[in-house]
Amino acid sequence: MQKKGMLVVISGPAGVGKGTLCRALLTQSTDLEYSVSVTTRPSRPGETDGKEYYFRSKEEFLKMIEDGELLEWAEFLGNFYGTPRFHVQAMLNQGKTIILEIDIQGAKQVKSQCSEGVFIFIVPPSFTVLSERLRGRGTESEEVIQNRLARAVEELENVKDYDYIIENNDIDVAVERLKSIIVAENSSTKRVAFFSKEE
Ligand code: 5GP
Repeated sequence: MQKKGMLVVISGPAGVGKGTLCRALLTQSTDLEYSVSVTTRPSRPGETDGKEYYFRSKEEFLKMIEDGELLEWAEFLGNFYGTPRFHVQAMLNQGKTIILEIDIQGAKQVKSQCSEGVFIFIVPPSFTVLSERLRGRGTESEEVIQNRLARAVEELENVKDYDYIIENNDIDVAVERLKSIIVAENSSTKRVAFFSKEE
């Protein structure tokens, strides 16, 4: 059987634990690829260029847009974020599954170009838990946290545009659900070309 590549988009409000979930997913499923985004936001302590993000200046980012190097991009609370097209395309051409952790504006752009993608939205168990998690991170000012919380409310209204919704209450349970969705979607008749009589 020949497998088509599969694009998996994961969105959800900041602080919901998307990053932790994706890291756990990638450690447990070694056949998955991850798309490292480009951003103009300053790196947080512990983040490395080329690992969590490619950290670039606004000028460099705008040049990438101009040169058509980004599959999608969005401005999120004053910073730019975007997905480099080249890596995603290469992985899809090789029949691989690639994970994009991007915001709802980016997800809409991807959907318009790749309707066969799998769109998953991660939600917190409650708004209180979300604000506790954002504060617990200890990396952002109260103003940034307030902006991110306001944005989270807007984002949660877009759940209906996604194929799946996962509550991140217990990380292990959430990772298992993510893995199950990916396994099932990878077996979909939409994505697998069965061999013909001549093969
Ligand atoms: P953070 O600053 O917390 O790392 O990310 C802020 C938001 O930007 C998150 O919702 C994250 O999913 C989103 N994001 C990260 N990379 C990209 C990207 O390449 N494109 C878009 N549209 N959003 C992204």
